[in-house]
Amino acid sequence: MRITEVQVNLCEGGEDRLRAYCAIVIDNEFVVHNIRIIEKAGGLLIAMPSRKLTVKCRHCRMKNPIDAKFCMNCGHECDRSDTTRQGETKIHFDVAHPINPVCRQMIETAVLDAYRGESGQVAEKAVG
Ligand SMILES: [Zn+2]
Repeated sequence: MRITEVQVNLCEGGEDRLRAYCAIVIDNEFVVHNIRIIEKAGGLLIAMPSRKLTVKCRHCRMKNPIDAKFCMNCGHECDRSDTTRQGETKIHFDVAHPINPVCRQMIETAVLDAYRGESGQVAEKAVG
């Protein structure tokens, strides 16, 4: 597997720690959108595309965000007792992600190199 293209959309003035949204193209054939670059503890990390978990309302079967307090459809209080493990509720899960450290490293390197190049270009334009 090779990453043949990385698209970077810089986020300026957005969420505090969110630096960019990226998409990677794999082997010129498959694209993964919504990879985020986040600044944390002075370093950059990437977050794979994720989706917010939902839970079905016991009264009307409407799907609600797992951290919702009340059903968006019927207004009943949401029961979250079965979704909490070790005192912490898992709110997001990755839609697509590498399954070994070598692949993770390859994606991180490609994405962060592209981000550094892109943000460098922006800085040069601002100076000029
Ligand atoms: Zn409901």
